[in-house]
Amino acid sequence: MGGKILSQTDKYEAARNRMVTGQIMDRGVSNAATLRAMRKVPRHLFVPKEYEKEAYDDYPLPIGYGQTISQPFIVAYMTEAVKPSIKKKALEIGTGSGYQAAVLAEIVDTVYTIEIVPELAKESAERLKKLGYKNVIGKYGDGYKGWPKYAPFDIIIVTAAAEKIPQPLIDQLAENGRLVIPVGAPSSVQELILLEKKNGKIERSRLTFVRFVPFKRL
Ligand code: SAH
Repeated sequence: MGGKILSQTDKYEAARNRMVTGQIMDRGVSNAATLRAMRKVPRHLFVPKEYEKEAYDDYPLPIGYGQTISQPFIVAYMTEAVKPSIKKKALEIGTGSGYQAAVLAEIVDTVYTIEIVPELAKESAERLKKLGYKNVIGKYGDGYKGWPKYAPFDIIIVTAAAEKIPQPLIDQLAENGRLVIPVGAPSSVQELILLEKKNGKIERSRLTFVRFVPFKRL
């Protein structure tokens, strides 16, 4: 059989599959939808050209403007932690490259995503459009206030480290919703926190230690 059989076939497919097996499954991520999304999204198209060959390596990469695309394992870990499924509505704060948004968009109904660096908001919107992600709605702005127009959200993922969890995000979490956010001082190690809303009450758990770029304010 010659030619391209699957639209997702590309020269990095083997590297992407190795990434999923060696960096993600071997460290305990097992959610089928998450693994499928990580095998599908062409991460090399979300990094600057000069880093393309490192796109599937086990570390974060610079995306310009002092920001980074998270390490693949962390993206998979956070995706699994919010229990994504087909009917859910997600909010992401910190679009960056758009990679995490694309991974979520492979699984859930709609992803709303907010980015505070205008150039990144524009670049990621163009990238996601080009790749055919019609169910990602992005905007430029300060994600601190969430996106009341589309609330409540079943899933909220914050990909920048905050000293404190923004109250508007907690308010915009749906019943049975899940929010993950790195909490802690900037330029230090933070703790990834999971909030679940059950019968209107917030349950908080500590997941793991992470290192994220700081949550900024306009
Ligand atoms: N999820 C991204 C990772 C981006 S790094 C990806 O998959 O590539 C974190 C991003 O959060 C940066 O782009 C940063 O500019 C953005 N950010 C920081 N504070 C923010 C805020 N208050 N609102 C929206 N975006 C914010």
